[in-house]
Amino acid sequence: MEYKEISLPAAKSIALVAHDNKKKDLLGWCQKHRADLQKHTLYATGTTGTLIEKEAGLAINKLISGPMGGDQQVGALITEGKVDMLIFFWDPFEPMPHDPDVKALLRIAAVWNIPVACNQSSADFIVASPLFNLESSHSVPDYAAYMAKRAQTT
Ligand code: PGA
Repeated sequence: MEYKEISLPAAKSIALVAHDNKKKDLLGWCQKHRADLQKHTLYATGTTGTLIEKEAGLAINKLISGPMGGDQQVGALITEGKVDMLIFFWDPFEPMPHDPDVKALLRIAAVWNIPVACNQSSADFIVASPLFNLESSHSVPDYAAYMAKRAQTT
């Protein structure tokens, strides 16, 4: 896979998702980092977003609830370059009806090389990075090069 460098603005788009047993953890993390988070555009799956909006007072672009397709919506936004970072507190102790969607979301985040935190300590490290509130750059798959190569081989 060929990669190209893209730049990200200081104000990024961050997706927030938490499974039910992890919602309290994510809410606590959002409250702790409220001042930093409010500088960014926030997305969340339906129930997670409603909770964070109500309890942490952050403005959230709410997507569909996870089991109804919200994880896939987040994945689509990542492929479109509209979500730059994923904070996803998934539950390692419970099987989910939408496990395939969870796996798909984590895969797409890996494909597009966005920062991902799946627990509080990783999420703390991300917020503590000087890049969190600054313009930054990272590499993403070079889609035009990928398609050009496919055109030669198919
Ligand atoms: P929810 O979805 O925020 O609507 O609970 C999260 C998930 O289960 O992926």
